[in-house]
Amino acid sequence: MLLSVPLSALSRVGQSTAQSLKKLGLETVQDLLFYFPFRYDDFSQSTPIDKIEAGQNVSISGTIEMIQNKRSAKQRRQLTEALISDESGMIKAIWFNQPFITQNLKPGDLVSLAGKTAESYGQLTIVSPQYEKVGANGALIHTQGLVPVYHLNADFSQKQLRFLIKQAIDAADKIEEWLPEKILKDLHLMSLSDAVRQTHFPKDFEEAQIARQRIGFGELFLRQLRAQSLKQQIKHKQAPKIEFQEILTRRFVQSLPFTLTAGQKQAAWEILQDINRNAPMSRLLEGDVGSGKTVVAAMALFNAAINKYQGALMAPTEILASQHYKSLLDLLGSFNVKLALLTGNQTEANFALPKSKNARREHIIQEAEIIIGTQALIQDYNIPKLALVIVDEQHRFGVRQRQKLQQSSVSLWPHFLSMTATPIPRSLALSIYGNLDLSLIKELPKNRKAIITKIIAEEQREQAYIFLRQQIESGRQAFIICPLVEESDKLGVKSATAEYKRLQADIFPDIAIGLIHGRLKSNDKEKVMKEFAEGKIKILVATAVVEVGVDVPNASAMLIEGAERFGLAQLHQFRGRVGRGPHQSYCLLLTSKEQLNPNTAERLQALSKYNDGLSLAKIDLKLRGAGDLYGLIQSGFPELRIASLFDYEMIKKAQKAAEDLISSDPELSAYPLIKAKLQTEAETEAHLE
Ligand code: ADP
Ligand code: MG
Repeated sequence: MLLSVPLSALSRVGQSTAQSLKKLGLETVQDLLFYFPFRYDDFSQSTPIDKIEAGQNVSISGTIEMIQNKRSAKQRRQLTEALISDESGMIKAIWFNQPFITQNLKPGDLVSLAGKTAESYGQLTIVSPQYEKVGANGALIHTQGLVPVYHLNADFSQKQLRFLIKQAIDAADKIEEWLPEKILKDLHLMSLSDAVRQTHFPKDFEEAQIARQRIGFGELFLRQLRAQSLKQQIKHKQAPKIEFQEILTRRFVQSLPFTLTAGQKQAAWEILQDINRNAPMSRLLEGDVGSGKTVVAAMALFNAAINKYQGALMAPTEILASQHYKSLLDLLGSFNVKLALLTGNQTEANFALPKSKNARREHIIQEAEIIIGTQALIQDYNIPKLALVIVDEQHRFGVRQRQKLQQSSVSLWPHFLSMTATPIPRSLALSIYGNLDLSLIKELPKNRKAIITKIIAEEQREQAYIFLRQQIESGRQAFIICPLVEESDKLGVKSATAEYKRLQADIFPDIAIGLIHGRLKSNDKEKVMKEFAEGKIKILVATAVVEVGVDVPNASAMLIEGAERFGLAQLHQFRGRVGRGPHQSYCLLLTSKEQLNPNTAERLQALSKYNDGLSLAKIDLKLRGAGDLYGLIQSGFPELRIASLFDYEMIKKAQKAAEDLISSDPELSAYPLIKAKLQTEAETEAHLE
């Protein structure tokens, strides 16, 4: 079988199955073989029935004594019930809405079942197990040994997919090896053909592990190659030299209402030196929530402006863009710098703008020295003297986006700075962004007091409100975060809109409350944020829109409803909205006991114990497992399907191998397969935008 064979040629793949496969991105045998399982269930031991207990994952072998379809009285669901026996005992099996099973399995058949057990009405039952007849043609692939488990949509069962992969697996022989022989040998990696085969059908965990290492290495190696070759390309590009303006910069620093931390000074110095060159800067500025990255960005943008160039600051949301605009107005307003805000709905500037929308935009693009906006927008314009681009919290800002910006500026590459609060360790940052230099702000400003975080049960709700009231009465402000915008009857989750009404009517009738969520028009958002920043609104009821960046130093308390529904990283970001000024701040995590499973409890406890992002990231990693930290994979690295970003050893090896290859053959002319792969990836990325 060839790798290019369409899946419709496989047995039992009709029109509709082919359609469902396509939804998973699977059209050819090759696609199927590279659709890897994300975990394995271990059914290598079949358990004697009398040894089984409720709540276990088991694999059993036995004879079907009885099997029949039923209709469940209450829910009108189709049930299939069977009794299975072995030498030791008897167990019940049930399936839901799969009446056809009685066509396949008949009394007297020898079967192998795998699934989870439960106790129902005092009887031990195996629920919706995978099943397979023993002695039917071929080996058992579904229920014995390690069983691969794939990400699937509702159209498909694990069993169907495994059946298809089994049919196609011999085509793995035809997979071309693209890693250079020397690398395979030096690093003791298996061939790609073998690795693909073993990833789907490993004998044991060790085999699975070895195979996955080979595939994971390939992914990391390609990623490193891309980063390195980009580094090479950029190295020879010209960038506008932004000369360091010592006197004005000093004056700016003196004008601040605080002294810079050592970390801020160091980072600013690294950046200012970088942009004072003809080679484009590629730098990542990493600092925990509240560490003061904005003022560092402002110093660099200020220098660009004094040099008669333009600088752009891009934020992920409109709210954040307009916050940044205000912060920069505060910081730079008295320095005679032309600042402007440019988002889908807003155009503002500290210099005169024409009336019509398009004319305003055009005027900003031409005249502003510093433009603050959302990413998409700024990219759509040709900013004539763009010399410095700073992006805040956007992991997907990659090569292609940079190229676009480059085309928009004369023929020079702008300097590039990416800012993030995601606490990735240095080695990891280098592996992800192999082409970026790194600046770290390690400390928070000294005036900060650690935020006191407490888990609050539903019964303590009244006390929590009393506490908020005290905070307001002593002059502070508060946030109340709700998981949803609108009420969801199904989940009983607090919605911001309903909660806002209730609080204003019943709990705080005498206090000014505001409401903000993603579905408000941007003018309204703007107005609410302004009133909150000015202290007119005392309590802001909000959804996740306040997650990043919002900066109101007078806010000292936050109450998070349904805290169990948010991830650790998100909670840490929320909490970062308080404790930004000199006041002791508080974060109350409201959660009902019923919602607290051990994992959630541990997550919330971690938050009450630790104030820094790095400790939390480590705990998050422990609770969620590698590869999913802060949703890194989903948010920015689709090319890593198997590799773990936390396998430092492997990352280092991939980095070294990529460096060696690029330095020996910068054009990769001796490696057409690798070149083609890089090309395909670049195209895929372009396609994803
Ligand atoms: P982040 O790194 O999360 O973007 P910001 O730049 O928004 O943090 O800064 C958070 C707050 O700390 C702002 O109100 C800012 O004015 C203030 N700030 C920044 N640097 C210092 C400092 N060195 N000392 C005291 N406050 C500072
Ligand atoms: Mg920020």
